[in-house]
Amino acid sequence: MFLSELGSAWHDARIEPEITHLDSASAGRSSNAVIEAITGHLWEESRHGSYVAMDAAEQMLERGSRELAALIGHHSDELVYRDTARAALRAMLGVANLPVASTVWVAKNEFGPNLVEFERRGFSVHTLPAASVYGHVDTDALENMLQFEQPDFIHVCHIGSASGIVQPVAEIVEIAHAADVPVVVDMAQAVGHVPTITGADIVYGTSRKWLTGPRGVGFVAIRADSRLRVEITDMEAGTTAGFIAGRLGLGAAVGELIGLGPQAVFDELAAIGRATRERLTGIGSWEVVEPVDEPSALVTLAPPPGFEAADVIAAANHLRDAGLLVTPALPERTPLMLDNAVLRLSPHLDAKREDLDRLASELRTMGYRS
Ligand SMILES: *Cc1c(COP(=O)(O)O)cnc(C)c1O
Repeated sequence: MFLSELGSAWHDARIEPEITHLDSASAGRSSNAVIEAITGHLWEESRHGSYVAMDAAEQMLERGSRELAALIGHHSDELVYRDTARAALRAMLGVANLPVASTVWVAKNEFGPNLVEFERRGFSVHTLPAASVYGHVDTDALENMLQFEQPDFIHVCHIGSASGIVQPVAEIVEIAHAADVPVVVDMAQAVGHVPTITGADIVYGTSRKWLTGPRGVGFVAIRADSRLRVEITDMEAGTTAGFIAGRLGLGAAVGELIGLGPQAVFDELAAIGRATRERLTGIGSWEVVEPVDEPSALVTLAPPPGFEAADVIAAANHLRDAGLLVTPALPERTPLMLDNAVLRLSPHLDAKREDLDRLASELRTMGYRS
């Protein structure tokens, strides 16, 4: 039985998977319509020529951009596409009007590769205090800190790669803007998963995770009045039209999300996350890391005592052999918060009660190092 009322519609829109896919945080399963939007366009390119096919698809492309922009609280003319979220961040930082030694404040759940991008550019990175052991930004502390000092920008992962906590981005934005500090949001794990209209100056993300669009499409949106000045025309200069079929696939995926009702999807994913955490609490000395009712479907399990990263990887491999696809998330993904690997589960709307039962029984037998 599906955990979500939307589960059967979501399931019916896709082929039958050969594995219990609990890995949307790596890449969600695309629907048949998304795959057809991509392949259909590839055939059109071969039939008519790529640029002719692109012109013919113009209205669909515009619609896709309009709907994606609406989902993240931007206008479509503020969107720029790249291959990945990281490429979008790099492109943005490459033309942002930032001083040589910039200061950026980040949250505890910051994505390791983003820190590498900041360090590579010589930014001085400070970690914001957390309100609890879970790593949510302490917004009162932030407000106080901003009275004494203002970074060049605040960068927040709305949801990180190896933690299901959801940062209070709208509140962070409000506080930062009161001090005239720009906020840049990594929405790679948030878009299609939780509400993403936050008022942030700049947001970026990827098609392939919770939106279940294709791999190979990332995006960044820069508000026209962004406090961090980025000339969007500088970013578009030098890009060719890019992966048009992929953008059409992303547009189809966003269209399906809108068809299901974004808020209903977000509510159901939160309920699935909760059910997953409830079911797995106290199983075989694996420990659910997030608060049970954290409103996301990204769930991490800290390993039993004595497990090292290699053991967590072995556990994920064992689960895969048992037909359950999950990720062993190494601490490099979330270096400010994790010092050991965790198992990451990220079910989508087709999650079933039986899947969680099987996962629980497999985990129970893996409580000890082999
Ligand atoms: C996956 C992920 C990214 C990177 O996305 P790419 O499209 O692979 O560049 C960035 N931030 C977070 C939090 C992620 O989980």
